[in-house]
Amino acid sequence: MVAADTTPIRDRIRRAEAFLDQVGEVAPPLLDDDAALRGEARRLRSLVEMVAGRPYGRLPHVAYRGRLETRLMGPWSQYLTLGIGLSRVVRMTSWETSRPAIPTVLAHELSHRFGFDESLTTLRGLEVSARLAEQGDSMHQVSARLELARLLLGAAMGDALRAGAGEEIDAFFEAHADRPAMARPCQQWRRVKGRRLPDWSLTVYAEIPCASIEAARAGELQRSSLAAARAADVLGWRPETGLSDGLRVTYESVRLGRANPAARAPGARDVRVAAGA
Ligand SMILES: [Zn+2]
Repeated sequence: MVAADTTPIRDRIRRAEAFLDQVGEVAPPLLDDDAALRGEARRLRSLVEMVAGRPYGRLPHVAYRGRLETRLMGPWSQYLTLGIGLSRVVRMTSWETSRPAIPTVLAHELSHRFGFDESLTTLRGLEVSARLAEQGDSMHQVSARLELARLLLGAAMGDALRAGAGEEIDAFFEAHADRPAMARPCQQWRRVKGRRLPDWSLTVYAEIPCASIEAARAGELQRSSLAAARAADVLGWRPETGLSDGLRVTYESVRLGRANPAARAPGARDVRVAAGA
C-alpha cells in the first residue's frame, strides 16, 4: 500500500498555525455579557446587510446561554427561528474558551437571517468580520483569524480522515493543547478521529468554505460590475451574442476545454480550470 500524500494536510496545518501565531498572546476586548453582545449585534447589522445584499430588519434576541444549558450544548452557538420576526433568537455559547472567537461567531449567527446554508453563512460571517478587522477592529482581528485557523484545521481533519492519516492532526493538537482557542476544534477531532469519512459538520462548516476561499488565486477579481450602455458610449462596444447563447457557449467551452483546452471558445483558451471546479 502506498502511503497517503499528507502534503495538503501539513500545508493547511502550517497556515492555521500562522494565523494562531499572528494572534499570539493578544488579549482582545471581549464581549463579556449580554449587553455587550447586543451592542455588537447592532454594530454588525449594517455589514451583514451589505454582505447579504438585503435589508436586515429587526435584530433577533441575542443572549449567552446559562451555565446548565452550556453544559448540555457544548461550544455551539445557534440561530433559532420559527420563521417569523419575534421568534428569532440567537443563543451564544458561554464557554470561556470560545470567548475570543465570539465576534465572528456572532456575525455568523446573525447572517442566518438570510438562510440556513452553513457553508455560505460561514463565509458571510467571516466576510463581515474580516471587513471590520481590515478597518482595524482589534476584536475582529483576533476572532477572524481564529475562525480562519478553525476552517483550515477542519479541512485538514477532513483530508486526514479520507487519507486515513491522522498523525499530523494528533501532533498539532498535542503541540497546541494549551491554547484555549483550540478547545473546540480539539473536541471535534476527538469526536471524529478514527472514522473513515469526514462527518457532515466538518464538510459544511470547514471543508466547503475553506475550499471556496482557497480557490481564489492571488490577484483574482473579487467583484465586477459594468454598464453596457457606458461601454457602448466609450468603447463603441455592441453585444453580438444573446444571454442564453452566451451561457450555452460558455458551458460548452468549459466542458470541452477540460479534455482539450484548444476546444475552448476564443478568449477562454488561456483560462486554467481550477482543480475540483
Ligand atoms: Zn450556523
